[in-house]
Amino acid sequence: MIFNNLNQTDNKDFFAIIVGSGPAGISIALELEKKKIYSLIIESGELENNSISEKYLKSESIGDHDGDYASNRMRMFGGTTSVWGGNCNPMNKSDFYDWPIEKYELDKYTRRASEILNLKKKFVSQKFNENLNMYNLVWSNIRINEDYLDHIKVSKYISLSLSTSFFNLNYTNKKISSIECISKNKKYTLRSDFYILACGGIENSRLLLWLKSKNKELFNSEIPIGKYYMHHPYHKVGNGIINYKKLKNYFSKNNNTYIPLVTCDSNIYLEANDDFISSNNILNSGMYLSFNNINIKNDLFKQLRCVAPKFIKNIYDDVKTGKMYEISINTLQEQEPIIENKIILGDKLDPLGIPLTKIFWKKISSEKKSARIILEEIAKLLINEEIGRLAVEDYLYNENTNYEVVSGNHQMGGTRMGLSVKDSVVDKDLKVHDIENLYIAGSSVFRTSGHCHPTFTIVQLSIRLAEHIISIKS
Ligand SMILES: Cc1cc2nc3c(=O)[nH]c(=O)nc-3n(C[C@H](O)[C@H](O)[C@H](O)COP(=O)(O)OP(=O)(O)OC[C@H]3O[C@@H](n4cnc5c(N)ncnc54)[C@H](O)[C@@H]3O)c2cc1C
Repeated sequence: MIFNNLNQTDNKDFFAIIVGSGPAGISIALELEKKKIYSLIIESGELENNSISEKYLKSESIGDHDGDYASNRMRMFGGTTSVWGGNCNPMNKSDFYDWPIEKYELDKYTRRASEILNLKKKFVSQKFNENLNMYNLVWSNIRINEDYLDHIKVSKYISLSLSTSFFNLNYTNKKISSIECISKNKKYTLRSDFYILACGGIENSRLLLWLKSKNKELFNSEIPIGKYYMHHPYHKVGNGIINYKKLKNYFSKNNNTYIPLVTCDSNIYLEANDDFISSNNILNSGMYLSFNNINIKNDLFKQLRCVAPKFIKNIYDDVKTGKMYEISINTLQEQEPIIENKIILGDKLDPLGIPLTKIFWKKISSEKKSARIILEEIAKLLINEEIGRLAVEDYLYNENTNYEVVSGNHQMGGTRMGLSVKDSVVDKDLKVHDIENLYIAGSSVFRTSGHCHPTFTIVQLSIRLAEHIISIKS
């Protein structure tokens, strides 16, 4: 049900209070509902985004990111899914190299996460050669604000209060006894057994930093809130030409059961496999190969005529009969977690008096190296199989050359998972270190980022968190 007034919560026992109604928060509430357990979601925004939201979200950016993070986060029911693209893929085994949990511990939530996100296709990952895998992108059409509102309106177990912002908590020893929130200019104190912050990749850090500054005895003084913040940098890394027939023959020769449709509207997705990543000591990168009709008058063709004259001479007939495609390769990359990339509280305040963030974020040289090594592997394969030729962007070979990236939609780290309070904020069950009943959900708990879009993993982790708190209580 939806509360119009928080006084309606009087006399109700909530097992958990969830702060935030994005995919992280909603998945927890849906999972508790399945087990007939009551939860209350408080959401700072309304059913639609409004211009006031900017006053809560604007951040100062220091380093390589230009934006102020106000347009790539939504403060409304359903959170950022009202504008997201919907790409969903699970992280790979090697992406968990430094986590206190392994991939198989999330795999068991794949079916339920796919249900919540209404995924219609299965994930495919197949060997492309001995070092590379080819995978598909799976899409969700879910917009929580449209697809789950009616469900919550009639739900007996999920309660929702909109325009309600969490801003502080009360505690005894190391246990949270209640939280404070403000709704329509009135303050409320709310109680439950478990409190879960699911406020988004940056807000989780912002609120925890604020709570720590107000409640010094509650938090371990060493806890690295806001540190190891990450993006997925996206940039163009190469272009080239391929012979479509030879690419198709290559798929058949390798008995690929998944053969993507190669057209000007679709991509092929390649990534390094786990062994290649560890033997080369690199980060992973999703390589997006997109296809265009060939234009022999453009610069790419001239460039390749210089580096591969024999190859180009031999393909003129194929170009005329339309067997050739130009390809362009962009990459969405895993980013190394470094302590210097971080979220801190700035000097400006939001309308509730909570400091807005200052975010330090920069590109890291290991990203260039990783993209280059994976691209060279693709280039070698194209030459060996006579499928085509690649021109790798020059900046990947020059440590000092700057390059443009698009980034900032996937905000990860800041409240990372780990075993020690010295380098992590939550434990493997997403509980804030040393505090009995305060949990964090969302990509802020990612210890490393992998290269896949984050929301599928966020939902898997949220279902696991719901299962965990149920298990403590029973
Ligand atoms: C343009 C764009 C495209 C994207 N495309 C993809 C994609 O294709 N695939 C993918 O996986 N991801 C994508 N993302 C990222 C994706 O949207 C996020 O990973 C996801 O929404 C995070 O879920 P969340 O629940 O953690 O946070 P959010 O969705 O941000 O929800 C957090 C909620 O908490 C509320 N809140 C915050 N503070 C408080 C408070 N103090 N009190 C009460 N409520 C509070 C907010 O109002 C918000 O509703 C995209 C993002 C953008 C901007």
